[in-house]
Amino acid sequence: MTAQLEQGTETVSAHHQWVWMDGNMVSAEEASVSVTTQAFNYGTAVFEGIRAYRDNRTGQLNVFRLRDHIERLLNSARLLMINDLPSRQAIENSILELLVKNEANQDCYIRPIAFKKNLLPKMGFGVKLSGISTGFSVNSLNMPSRQSAQGISCSVSAWRRVPDTAIPVRAKITGSYVNSALAMETAMNGGHDDAIMLNIHGCVSEATTSNIFIVKNERLITPPLHAHILDGITRNTVIQLAGAYLNCDIEERDILPSELYAADECFLTGTGREISPVRKIDQYELNSDQESSLTLKLKSLYMKAVRGEMNDFGHWLTAVGSRDI
Ligand code: PMP
Repeated sequence: MTAQLEQGTETVSAHHQWVWMDGNMVSAEEASVSVTTQAFNYGTAVFEGIRAYRDNRTGQLNVFRLRDHIERLLNSARLLMINDLPSRQAIENSILELLVKNEANQDCYIRPIAFKKNLLPKMGFGVKLSGISTGFSVNSLNMPSRQSAQGISCSVSAWRRVPDTAIPVRAKITGSYVNSALAMETAMNGGHDDAIMLNIHGCVSEATTSNIFIVKNERLITPPLHAHILDGITRNTVIQLAGAYLNCDIEERDILPSELYAADECFLTGTGREISPVRKIDQYELNSDQESSLTLKLKSLYMKAVRGEMNDFGHWLTAVGSRDI
């Protein structure tokens, strides 16, 4: 089976053998859904992208910020009225159990999906949220961390980030990724690696599957949550790491396109993207991947945190294989 990962992440064929499907551990080939599935027809599913990293000193595999991802999954599910999901603790346990069953011992990626399944008896055909059963699956695959410190090229997209008044932006809803796919495709067609989207107010919002930061005069600036962005867990990680280790101001405020182009540095943050320096935005070159950049300092701190090399942030890691599940 070929694994199609979040936009901008290398495509690899490394799906693990076992998958959770509605409470059963089944082989990946068996974990399929019917064409009548509501989520397949209308995009009514919510999901998470989670990474687990190997601590190279001990060989231990740790899931990064598992609890935060599952909390966001459950909040996303609530907005789509996806009920009857297992508890947060049960979902966490099932993810750890899945990784053990798949004998995962390298960096990997975990994809839980909660989805609208079948119309309940006597429910009429059509687009809706209530009166539909729930499906829940988790699959995982090997996914090495991105090694390159070299920056990526981005364009500012003509496609605006879907506003919260159309689809809740704080939820990871599969249907809203049509917006990301359109923007990514146009960017790749123009020879770029990713697209930066403006919101309906013309301010910088985020990239297709990652949040954005700029650096200007050693100040770290990122769009606020009300800029119609996903409340990214990596974004939050960067804010905490910058506050703890780098003596720099962090501003959460609107960014106009001209300020983006005039930035000293820019980087994208996301579970899949990790910390990706942006070396060019349209025709404007930036200093994001220079050796002394704040971007590379943050990238290095981030990689230490996810690999368990930062005692202060050990609570972000959940060990695979050490819990009674
Ligand atoms: N924005 C969008 C639209 C995303 O899909 C993602 C990836 N989940 C992000 C931002 C980054 O979020 P996180 O850091 O929690 O992975």
